[in-house]
Amino acid sequence: MPASIIDGKMIAAKVHEENAEEVAALARDYNVQPGLAVVLVGDDPASRVYVNMKVRKCKELGIYSEKHVLEKTASMDEVLALVDQLNNDTRINGILVQSPPPPQIDEDAVVAAINPAKDVDCFHAENVGKMLIGKQDGFVPCTPYGIMKLLERSGIDPSGKHAVVIGRSNIVGKPMMALLVQKAKGANATVTCVHSRTKNLAELTRQADILIAAIGKPEFVTADMVKKGAVVVDVGINRVDDPNGRDNYQLVGDVKFDEVAAKASMITPVPGGVGPMTIAMLMHNTIKACKLQNGIG
Ligand code: NAD
Repeated sequence: MPASIIDGKMIAAKVHEENAEEVAALARDYNVQPGLAVVLVGDDPASRVYVNMKVRKCKELGIYSEKHVLEKTASMDEVLALVDQLNNDTRINGILVQSPPPPQIDEDAVVAAINPAKDVDCFHAENVGKMLIGKQDGFVPCTPYGIMKLLERSGIDPSGKHAVVIGRSNIVGKPMMALLVQKAKGANATVTCVHSRTKNLAELTRQADILIAAIGKPEFVTADMVKKGAVVVDVGINRVDDPNGRDNYQLVGDVKFDEVAAKASMITPVPGGVGPMTIAMLMHNTIKACKLQNGIG
């Protein structure tokens, strides 16, 4: 039997409904409105699309938002001055600097300059540390957080299961491992991380009850790398040339969907799987930031 599809669009829509209810309750009960500032340095077309999607979603939910666009030649001083201004702006609860910035910008230094209380992306070392030790008063990075929610709301309990994460980036692979291994409800998995230097990669992925692919290589995961009945989560978003596609390309994931879907028990599609959850969790984090900053429990 082919895998059932984990419908990220539908689950994200439900999370957005809950987000909108929370925003309405904050206005009604506390007279506060969450605020998110999105900073774009340069004119990368994909980044522009992501930034606009985030601002649009804020508007839909009733979250105050600001979009700051700096020239692609902007200096570190300009970016840091803007971050400092936003750190001190009480209308703004969350700050996001869209990645990747142009090469003259030291992304680590920019992230370090963001007030950790406003670091809704959870890239700041303080929040990464809190996540790792399981503290609840920081943030959880949006993409891995969205995947945990997808699992939870699809009735998949990772407890005691072998989860294999392909990829070890700071924004997806590493935090994904950290969340799955937590001693906490909805986690408690046995976790293996495989990456570009792993020798017996397919041997390890074939042991996965839950396989999470975050590599950035189109259709890297093939059916022979997957155990029958596994749950497969595809984080990848890759543009591949396609003369029949809109703008001559189509989006594919890191998983060869058709053949893996024939073997897995559940699978996320691309698009419409992990992607919509990332933005849902960003909104959730912005609301949480607002509550924490206003002492609302
Ligand atoms: P990255 O390039 O920072 O990291 C890729 C990781 O894959 C690295 O750790 C590397 O070790 C590993 N890798 C690369 N080649 C490999 C190979 N041949 N074998 C095994 N491992 C290999 O990428 P990232 O930021 O983690 O993103 C991964 C993918 O997820 C990209 O396609 C990206 O666009 C997508 N992404 C999607 C969302 C979303 O919201 N859906 C969010 C973030 C990233």
